[in-house]
Amino acid sequence: MDRLPDPSSEPALVGTFAHRVLELLCQHPGSERTIEQAKIIARDAWPEFSEDEDYVALGLDDDQARAFRWQAWLAVTGLWRIEDPADVEVVSTEQRIEVDFDGVPFVGVVDRVDRLGGQLTISDYKSGTLPGHRWRHEKIQQVMLYAAALGAHTGERPARARLLYLGQRILDVRVTQSRLDDAVNALSETWVELSGACEREEFPPQPTVLCGWCPFVEQCPEGRAELMARSDAGSLPAHAPAAALLVA
Ligand code: SF4
Repeated sequence: MDRLPDPSSEPALVGTFAHRVLELLCQHPGSERTIEQAKIIARDAWPEFSEDEDYVALGLDDDQARAFRWQAWLAVTGLWRIEDPADVEVVSTEQRIEVDFDGVPFVGVVDRVDRLGGQLTISDYKSGTLPGHRWRHEKIQQVMLYAAALGAHTGERPARARLLYLGQRILDVRVTQSRLDDAVNALSETWVELSGACEREEFPPQPTVLCGWCPFVEQCPEGRAELMARSDAGSLPAHAPAAALLVA
């Protein structure tokens, strides 16, 4: 709303590069989806990626750039710790899907659509840490929306949706009509709320513990107050990037 520029985020860009390598890898036949092939793809993709303005904006020196590439490589090779991509029947990669859920527009890009055991499956790479149980629902809702959109787009409802936490584990969720309905209903409610807020031009801040990860917290008095209150109560995670602001 304030048109503040979205700052570059190193963890997000590590994920972007790893996604790109895995996307290109999975366009190869199964027998060629090897770590050696991934290394060749990463080497070829790096020059273009390293000139991207978001990456350049990080301003990394040589050692930091080497650490960045190592983090991305760990994410890429983390795929082999949770599945063997050679065995996956890949239907599509980075498939953009645009559908309309009863007047609610939805646009999504699905990392990978697979056919596993004959069943259509959504596979979504995650380069971050597997969230605790409390935070998983939102991630599952996201892949359920992809499943609903793919079903509406192709006429075939996916049977499974999988969150591939690279190097950690796969969260594999069965797609049911009730989970699809929950996800689409939640999207509709958000759409109604957003439409109302846009009409009223009212966007009240909603501070939570996630303000600790918000890149705009320095410009947000409510967010800073939330962090102070949590810090005083000892409930602000020490690894939240914004925790450093309070020390400063
Ligand atoms: S600091 Fe918190 S309340 Fe403020 S914009 Fe960020 S997430 Fe919203």
